[in-house]
Amino acid sequence: MDNRFSISTYPDAAEINSQLDALIAKPIYSVKPGALKTYEDEYYSKKCIKSKHMIEEASKVIPGGVQHNLAFNYPFPLVFTKAEGAYLYDIDGNQYYDFLQAGGPTVLGSNPVEVRSKVIELLNECGPSTGLFHEYEYKIAKKIIDNFETVEMFRMLGSGTESCMAAIRVARLATGKKNILKMGGAYHGWSDQLAYGIRIPGSKWTQAHGVPRYIFRHTQEFFPNDLNDLERKLKRNTLSGGTAAVMIEPLGPESGTTPVDGKFNKGVEALCRKYGALLIFDEVVTGFRVGMSGAQGYFGVSPDLTIFGKVVAGGYPGAGGLGGKKEYMKFLSAGIAGGPKVKKALVGGTMAANPLSCVAGYYTLCEIERTQAAQKAGLMGDRLTEGLKQLIAKYNLPFVTFNQGSICHLETVGTTHYAINWSKPWTIPGVLNATSERKKEMEHVGAAYMAEGLVPWQEAGCIPVLHTQRK
Ligand code: PMP
Repeated sequence: MDNRFSISTYPDAAEINSQLDALIAKPIYSVKPGALKTYEDEYYSKKCIKSKHMIEEASKVIPGGVQHNLAFNYPFPLVFTKAEGAYLYDIDGNQYYDFLQAGGPTVLGSNPVEVRSKVIELLNECGPSTGLFHEYEYKIAKKIIDNFETVEMFRMLGSGTESCMAAIRVARLATGKKNILKMGGAYHGWSDQLAYGIRIPGSKWTQAHGVPRYIFRHTQEFFPNDLNDLERKLKRNTLSGGTAAVMIEPLGPESGTTPVDGKFNKGVEALCRKYGALLIFDEVVTGFRVGMSGAQGYFGVSPDLTIFGKVVAGGYPGAGGLGGKKEYMKFLSAGIAGGPKVKKALVGGTMAANPLSCVAGYYTLCEIERTQAAQKAGLMGDRLTEGLKQLIAKYNLPFVTFNQGSICHLETVGTTHYAINWSKPWTIPGVLNATSERKKEMEHVGAAYMAEGLVPWQEAGCIPVLHTQRK
């Protein structure tokens, strides 16, 4: 094991994908109706009364009663009032293990005092934002650049979504080419152009309700793990505007839920060089969780542009940014008169790079480095996955479990493992029905997890390092 990283052994992607194929070929295995009813009657109706009342009121003013997509919401969302290290507490005082970790940014666990105290100091001194330069803007950029070899410059933005939008603008300006090829099933935020091939590889525009189809004229997808498909599309694009960039989540779509082969990233890099497309790594989940140099350090790949999110504000708001070589980052120079004379990509955000996000991000990254948090969390991920494997075998369950360091997966219904094949259009409704049916069952599994005291992240759980402190 390379001890700079959280991944001790990279999973055998072919083996896992065949286990996932077998899982979705089987009928759904879920919580028995009687057991679900017991959870509803004994836990949710008796022990979550304050949550229930608050969500009833919230549903009158907030669509669906909540503002986030990541947590399970059946039979109703719970209201959380306290987060501390590896634990969450709801408004009724129930305690949970936190495997969601705010969707991944809190590698150190929730609300660590080392970061919080610096944030409070800054708030006392200058408040959260001024709209002007602050020293922590420099410090966080320098910290990222010192750890990511391919990042010579960094521009902080407000979210992962914004950073993905900026990346494709820069790629088009830098190459003069038009098309963006993204990996099917991958999530790169919810902007119009990237709402393509979401969740289900091959799904194209079908999941992008509210986005006109012409927006996707220059967005395309290729199948995960399929370098031949990627090359075919790169070749085809040479006849129609070229490929500005290939964009991937380096562990596989949806944070590695369908894992890519260990050699896949290098293969993508070689094809990008061959066809003159920029390689964009979306490290929103993997940056500083796989290791201080991200998934690119682990795979030994040199992307042209890297997208950061979440962790660069340590769980505080305003988390995102784009990094890369100077020759590309010049298209992001800010300021009215500043920077080189090139056409600049349109990016902005009044709250982007505010002092609060920057100070929180800077000390978060320092703490992750100082405590080797990513590596420690990876070891806990190994331990958890090993335990899950033993339970799956003991109870003869059809489930699939694997981990990439501290990103742990327990697939009980395999919702994200479908793909759409347009050459067999009659199969498409079946795939869409199966995924929504399985997603519904996932909600039931989620209800059981929560009632048993675990808050997971849909089917991918992140293990914050603080779980190590429990004996
Ligand atoms: N890219 C990836 C790989 C993500 O996982 C996410 C969010 N989960 C995003 C982009 C979007 O980031 P944000 O939610 O900050 O807009």
